[in-house]
Amino acid sequence: MSAITEEAILAALRTIRDGERGDLVALGMISGLQLKDGHVAFAIEVDPARGPALEPLRRAAEKAVDALPGVLSVTAVLTAHRAAAPPARSSRGHSHAPGPGHAPAAPAGRGAIDGVGAIVAVASGKGGVGKSTVAVNLALGLAANGLKVGILDADIYGPSMPRMTGISGRPTSHDGRVLEPMQHHGLKVMSIGFLVAEDTPMIWRGPMVMSALQQMLRDVNWAPLDILVVDMPPGTGDAQLTMAQQVPLAGAVIVSTPQDIALLDARKGLNMFRKVDVPVLGIVENMSFFCCPNCGHRSEIFGHGGARREAERLGTEFLGEIPLDIAIRETSDGGTPITVADPTGPHAAAFRALAARVWEMVGTGDARRAPPRIVVR
Ligand code: ADP
Repeated sequence: MSAITEEAILAALRTIRDGERGDLVALGMISGLQLKDGHVAFAIEVDPARGPALEPLRRAAEKAVDALPGVLSVTAVLTAHRAAAPPARSSRGHSHAPGPGHAPAAPAGRGAIDGVGAIVAVASGKGGVGKSTVAVNLALGLAANGLKVGILDADIYGPSMPRMTGISGRPTSHDGRVLEPMQHHGLKVMSIGFLVAEDTPMIWRGPMVMSALQQMLRDVNWAPLDILVVDMPPGTGDAQLTMAQQVPLAGAVIVSTPQDIALLDARKGLNMFRKVDVPVLGIVENMSFFCCPNCGHRSEIFGHGGARREAERLGTEFLGEIPLDIAIRETSDGGTPITVADPTGPHAAAFRALAARVWEMVGTGDARRAPPRIVVR
């Protein structure tokens, strides 16, 4: 059997018509077509006003491609084709969206989200430093401080929020267009992990990731929220940069371990946000030190204090240190993070303090008034 080609997919999509207007390809509605080892993904760009009526069209497109020989799986998503608010220029409307790294300098879609106060990113230079753990506990700390909080898991390739919030199942929609966020521990939560079966390969790249993120940001009933915490994907590559450009961020919190500070990864994270004019609120040092659960002895396994020094050197704030503690791992991996599992304990207090400082900065506009200084010594 010959391998499936892009041409064959487009030919199948030409058989699907959007009523009298014409076929999906001729109308330029297909974007971000990705094809890898028989797995196909694409977006159908639609006028949001017609959203609910177009679900049958999406299904028909998926079915047409699925019927092609050599196709193993198909994922089609409806993407709102939005006119950007003037004077910004819309980046949409291509029949073939640009690849990663070709994001427009002034992206459409960076507008605020109705009913959402501030959006804050939690990011890291690399994976495994506890970024998602800090993100979920920060969100819970904000909620414990009396705010209405949501958490958006922007890690399309490795979503962790279903596990960390202990939520399973699929989000529902009242109108076939806007998804209701999942809810637990007083948080509104959205993650690609709720939408795609665990065994579905994540072959999305560039434009597909962007359209999935845009949908999770804009086609979810988030409002009313005081603050939305975005758990960014790890790393500082093109995908992260594009994402940071697309999401209307009030600021970013960088999570780092003592050793990753030494390896400069956190610095890369900082620079990435600066490139796209997002204020870096500060650095959190995670797995900062180890407290022996038996004798209480404090060991600084990876060295300690690096993040504080580095934050100072880079002219950004040191937001606090979180110890390496088995209770933090067990509670976040078990779906009841430490801030709710042990609300009177020292870790919950640390996360509430972090939350209070973050809210102080974005809630009062400090982040905008006082962008971080770059100190050259
Ligand atoms: P990332 O989002 O950076 O990839 P995660 O938040 O998923 O990292 O954390 C990676 C692993 O480390 C998880 O099993 C998590 O429970 C654990 N972990 C994170 N922070 C801590 C901590 N302070 N103490 C103990 N375990 C932690």
